[in-house]
Amino acid sequence: MIESQLHELTQWLEVPSKMVIIPHKNPDGDAMGSTLAWQNMMQQLGHTATVLAPNSYPTFLHWMPGHKEVVIYENEKPKGNKLVAEADFIFTLDFNTLKRIDVLGEYVAESKAKKIMIDHHQDPDDYADLMFSDPNIGSTCELVYQIIDRLNKRGLINKEVATCIYTGILTDTGSFRFPSVTANTHKATATLIEHGANHSLIHEQIKDNARPDRLKLLGIALRNMVFLDDVNTAYITLNQDELDECNFQKGDAEGFVNYGLSVTGVQIAVLMIEYRHEGVVKFSFRSKGDLAVNTFAKTYFDGGGHINAAGGISKDPLAKTEAYFIKSLRAFFGKY
Ligand code: 5GP
Ligand code: MN
Repeated sequence: MIESQLHELTQWLEVPSKMVIIPHKNPDGDAMGSTLAWQNMMQQLGHTATVLAPNSYPTFLHWMPGHKEVVIYENEKPKGNKLVAEADFIFTLDFNTLKRIDVLGEYVAESKAKKIMIDHHQDPDDYADLMFSDPNIGSTCELVYQIIDRLNKRGLINKEVATCIYTGILTDTGSFRFPSVTANTHKATATLIEHGANHSLIHEQIKDNARPDRLKLLGIALRNMVFLDDVNTAYITLNQDELDECNFQKGDAEGFVNYGLSVTGVQIAVLMIEYRHEGVVKFSFRSKGDLAVNTFAKTYFDGGGHINAAGGISKDPLAKTEAYFIKSLRAFFGKY
């Protein structure tokens, strides 16, 4: 984070303005945590700030402070377009290419608002007037915390802000276990707890409110797991019929991909979910060490993400996608 960027942001924040704060499509805990925390901060500073999510997010995040005021673009397009058109500032959080917000990205690109990116993914696109981009930091929420700290606004971290930031750090670090966690992460977390974040309750709300159907789906996922020993990979497929059998809801498969990595020797874990009505298969990739699943996802599945956690899609049917996946995995990782 460069002093001149912070200085510029400070100047921009001086006059009460209209702000729109946008997380990526299919927002996760870090995307919602960072946008809701930033919204609360901006409101405390006297701005009119709205969180505009491209589409809905899982129910396990619906308890978050500020959730009820979030505008879901998919359901309220005219309202979303008006917000974007009238904004003085647009903050884009937890993503770094406007492709990650689909059609909303076109309106953002056209908007006269100043655009500020706050993000921790690699290779940012060049659409923002001001960029806070740090791929070495484990979550956008931690970056938001660092910005607040550097702006000398720690006094504005109330219970709601602390709760939102804690949530994103928790979810993007696999509950504080990924290599991206540093002493600074824990220092930030300590401050958040001092400012009212109830860590135990947050964990409970995120992790312990599943429907029985979700566990049934997990059972199917684990039964479907395939091991490719030659590439140290475990992958799971879930087809639309299996989703239907378990009354699938957004977020139900959260965390399933990680089970593969719990097996000795497995270095790459993959989850493929068929959304037959949309004609897509959505991928989640996870890895250990320096196996770059983001490059793999980008090369073969129109995706991206981080070295050890990435996503992508295929528009082919599941069986064809699975065969192509195995072939490309062997081509890409076969020699290590
Ligand atoms: P997840 O597997 O949890 O959906 O995503 C893991 C990581 O990959 C997240 O950091 C997310 O930002 C990124 N990611 C997921 N899907 C996509 C995608 O379709 N494109 C890109 N560029 N990144 C993705
Ligand atoms: Mn993130």
